[in-house]
Amino acid sequence: MPTPLRTSFFRYVAQTAPEPDGFEVGHGKGIYLFDPEGNAFIDCISGIAVSALGHGHPKITEAIKKQLDLHLHTSVYGEHIQRPQVVLAEKIARLLPNHLNCTYFTNSGTEAVEGALKLARKYTSRYEIFACRNAYHGSTAGAESLRSDLDHLAAMRPLVPGVKHIDFSVFDDLECITEKTAAVIIEPIQGEAGVILPIVGYFQALRDRCNKTGTLLIIDEIQTGMGRTGKMWAFEHEDVVPDILLLAKAFGGGLPLGAFISSKEIMQVLSHDPILGHLTTFGGHPLSCAASLAAFDIIEEENLVENAARQGEKIRAKLTGHPAICEVRGRGLMLAIDLKNPNQLLTSVNDCKAQGLLVDWFLFNDRSVRFAPPIIITDEEVEVVCEKMSRALNVQ
Ligand code: PMP
Repeated sequence: MPTPLRTSFFRYVAQTAPEPDGFEVGHGKGIYLFDPEGNAFIDCISGIAVSALGHGHPKITEAIKKQLDLHLHTSVYGEHIQRPQVVLAEKIARLLPNHLNCTYFTNSGTEAVEGALKLARKYTSRYEIFACRNAYHGSTAGAESLRSDLDHLAAMRPLVPGVKHIDFSVFDDLECITEKTAAVIIEPIQGEAGVILPIVGYFQALRDRCNKTGTLLIIDEIQTGMGRTGKMWAFEHEDVVPDILLLAKAFGGGLPLGAFISSKEIMQVLSHDPILGHLTTFGGHPLSCAASLAAFDIIEEENLVENAARQGEKIRAKLTGHPAICEVRGRGLMLAIDLKNPNQLLTSVNDCKAQGLLVDWFLFNDRSVRFAPPIIITDEEVEVVCEKMSRALNVQ
């Protein structure tokens, strides 16, 4: 018998997937999500890399409650001086290379992308943007125009013009970037394509080409940031620094928060000719900024960047060689498990659920299981997760 809540979910809540997951959430604690009957599931999706610190971390809850008692929204973004927002912007500047010192806060990842595209075009007075094939940068009109899958885009026209594509990690394609190019937007690891790592040296060649042509390099760390890949920022693996950095997802400590971050010099073009070049009402909400600050503190205090690197290695070592798996790919705890038999993808996701393990699939990859547990996961929990995963895949 479907519960009344399930019936209402399908009747009143808009969905765009033909078969939504439909997991009914009771509550969450640590790496666990519980259904309303109290059955425990290990969350290896983390709300697609959002709940990096698990569910209900006491320090995040406390920070939110403290801010709740002080004030919520007070004015449109950038007008009032709100302590959590200012302290967070300063913290980010201290954590990033020198020139990434000015933050524009948004509510989501896709809004960070929109802001960055406008900023790059305004700063360079150029029009052309390069994105990578099979990248995902969000679902608003500008971010969606960066997609390369023609079937999807056909239904969404007209798109925001000026976008061209290159292949990720293909050195020859870098020649397409010229003095006409405003920006290249790129993920340091392609997430929705199924955790595709760049070839060694590719990002340096890309950085060189951008420097040579006066093109801004926008690195989208919306999925990779905040320690998930075993470095605080995934661009550190590549030894390059972007001109504009994009954050969201785990950045808000479980609340909605995004950002595009650049130098003061670049960012100031949004404040003249015309003034108010970018606006948001709720961007950088004080509750979200308070949660984000707590998240940064926890990541530092609990050495979670190192933990993500170590636990990721362990998971890869334990699952590699399983007869149903052909590759465990990724960095830190941003992992894709490639199945030998791609027809088993949906059954495998369901078999994992039957073992009490929540995993997922990717937008642009039909043979890989998405595996992104909270980065607080412990040694013992990794053992349990790998046992459950192996058992689920043995069923087939
Ligand atoms: N960029 C990347 C790399 C993403 O993975 C996502 C979300 N999956 C986005 C942008 C869009 O973020 P949001 O859903 O918060 O708009």
